[in-house]
Amino acid sequence: MTDLQIAKEVELQPISAISEKFGIPVDAIEMYGKYKAKLPLKAIDKEKAKKSNLILVSAISPTPAGEGKTTMSIGLSEGLNRLKKKTTVVLREPSLGPVFGIKGGATGGGYSQVLPMEDINLHFTGDFSAIEKAHNLLAALIDNNIQSKTNSLFLDPRTIGWKRVMDMNDRSLRHVIVGLGGTTSGVPRETGFDITAASEIMAILCLAENLSDLKQRLGNIFVGYTFDKKPIYAKDLKAEGAMAALLKDAIKPNLVQTIEGNPAIIHGGPFANIAQGTNSVIATLMGMSHSEYTVTEAGFGFDLGAEKFFDIKCQSAGLTPKAVVLTTTIRALKYHGGADLKSLTEPNVEALKKGLPNLEKHLENIAKFQVVPVISINRFNSDTEEEIQVIKDLAASKGIRVAVADVWAKGGEGALDLAQHVIDVVESSTSDFKPLYDWKSSVTDKIATIATEIYGAEYVDYTPKAKANLRKIADLGLEQLPVCIAKTQKSLSDNPALLGRPKDFIITVREIEIAVGAGFLIPITGDIMRMPGLPAHPSSEGIDISNDGEITGLF
Ligand code: ADP
Ligand code: MG
Repeated sequence: MTDLQIAKEVELQPISAISEKFGIPVDAIEMYGKYKAKLPLKAIDKEKAKKSNLILVSAISPTPAGEGKTTMSIGLSEGLNRLKKKTTVVLREPSLGPVFGIKGGATGGGYSQVLPMEDINLHFTGDFSAIEKAHNLLAALIDNNIQSKTNSLFLDPRTIGWKRVMDMNDRSLRHVIVGLGGTTSGVPRETGFDITAASEIMAILCLAENLSDLKQRLGNIFVGYTFDKKPIYAKDLKAEGAMAALLKDAIKPNLVQTIEGNPAIIHGGPFANIAQGTNSVIATLMGMSHSEYTVTEAGFGFDLGAEKFFDIKCQSAGLTPKAVVLTTTIRALKYHGGADLKSLTEPNVEALKKGLPNLEKHLENIAKFQVVPVISINRFNSDTEEEIQVIKDLAASKGIRVAVADVWAKGGEGALDLAQHVIDVVESSTSDFKPLYDWKSSVTDKIATIATEIYGAEYVDYTPKAKANLRKIADLGLEQLPVCIAKTQKSLSDNPALLGRPKDFIITVREIEIAVGAGFLIPITGDIMRMPGLPAHPSSEGIDISNDGEITGLF
């Protein structure tokens, strides 16, 4: 059965019932139809949130297919609920680009899904559209200011980094020239489009704690320089009030349900390379305010998503994670051990053993944050007992907890062992979270710490452009910001071809962008795609809707 077929067999509970179960009375929520609702910000209780146990689901370095973090997060929360721990799973919202591009949803899979999956994958409650509008409002204000004779800030158009965004994979919009058509139609300049998930506003919305914090961060967005080299921010264009107004509903987290009728919160969806790759702080705090356990996910492998989750999100919002579930697949380890992508469903203990150093490195990295891991083997139909035993043996030799999680095939029933391990870790209070670096250290020290300790690099090299960016950051007084390194997810290094546990490599920082609004610097390694394209046969070709409104072909 497809994910959509499984989803359609579930009899959904009205969202009012889910909300009551979560702990917010029906008259306090805003319904978006029968099965979706927006939760009020005043339902966040920071004191109560502090008592909730925050569990981060991460993964080893993934294959291009993804290793199942979302599926694992949902399954684990079902398992914890079955063990009578009141648990909420908190996740990112899907972007439309991948929905129509290469098959693969962002609402879990098999018997571990959040519902209604058609709605969540298609528009949902309109948050992405609101973010897009707020982003494009600033873009319009910038071009309008360049055009203006009476209100000009004398922005140098060549210094403007703020592009436009759209939530669609559309490579033809990557580079565009705006302002053509003569004196009444703007000043011509080169710019482009990014996908909405890559917008700094997405990163801002996901780090903001309330409306005034949101407004302040929006005002701090760096726009460019005047001709006499004065920095200009969104607040100089008086943009932040109107931008925040457009985000008045988008800032509220969305409540939906899991297949087993437990509450799930889905809110915000920033990229995991150029941004922090995890749902909003508001959603996490909302989940924590009303649950004993809060399960969440950070994008890509531990080196990217989890490092940012700990060093940026947890530090920014004062969160203390209690355990890490490291999603591990036999197929990815075989891939790291040299097996061909096409042969990953065939038993191959030899390749699996060769791939183990990737898992070992991620485990060492988790230890650097002083959080206790549980290895969660995401079981695929093709896994053999012999292969599973290889991972169990490795875990035993290191004294690390391990569970086989069959959440895709069995839902919460398949996560009971994993859930019990997580409870044991939490109840024994063995984690003592500590971030990797101090925000106050120098930018190059922060980058070096992540590159050498987490990625395993020898040292960091900077291009002349990156060195110029470092001077600009110093001039603007932004050295105290944390760093959000943009790197390939395919490798622990910055070279996607280096699988397993690469050694003796150098990380090259090509440039460093500033996201003052979001509150971090973005050192860029490798080529990072902010506006993906569609494949020759996009998955949109298989999506359809019947006369009575039934959607088919969505994963
Ligand atoms: P991630 O969050 O790590 O990107 P997802 O949970 O979204 O990964 O899973 C990626 C894809 O793999 C989804 O289509 C999901 O249905 C599928 N998947 C995950 N786990 C399994 C499994 N154990 N067996 C089969 N398919 C799986
Ligand atoms: Mg995911």
